[in-house]
Amino acid sequence: MAITPDTKNWTWVLEAPCPQCGFDASTFGERDVPALVRANAAQWPAVLGRPDVAIRPDDSTWSPLEYAAHVRDAFRIFSGRITLMLEEDDPAFADWDQNETAVVERYDEQDPATVARQLTDAAEQVATVIDAVPADAWQRTGLRSDGARFTVASLAKYFIHDPTHHLWDVRG
Ligand SMILES: [Zn+2]
Repeated sequence: MAITPDTKNWTWVLEAPCPQCGFDASTFGERDVPALVRANAAQWPAVLGRPDVAIRPDDSTWSPLEYAAHVRDAFRIFSGRITLMLEEDDPAFADWDQNETAVVERYDEQDPATVARQLTDAAEQVATVIDAVPADAWQRTGLRSDGARFTVASLAKYFIHDPTHHLWDVRG
């Protein structure tokens, strides 16, 4: 049951449409992200209600439950990162090893109904944080450990690809 770590740098999704899920960052603005977050989150409870939610489609692909737990944590992580950018000047983000987190947190053994509730709460949290970004704060910056520099605006637009892509991953 080996999952190959995803080491790709996904920042290109800000420049070009995703050939898999169809996400296109040129079609919306940063102020649209909270609505996109809420629309995305609204679709996960049905996924998490599937009887086979914990079953991996193959050995190298997360189950829908694992994807949902990851999306919940992505909502939490990016809520924290955007808050940090609003509070500090050009902060460095703490590393987030997504694959290690999935193993350590036992995503595969989490309760689907609990994940659904937590994902909904985490989505509302990050949507609220982005909704409240002051007009003069969108260009504040933050730095990822690999050297990628984001603004609040670009991070908001970048991050919503992750839940969008994973909803595509688990499409029924
Ligand atoms: Zn995608």
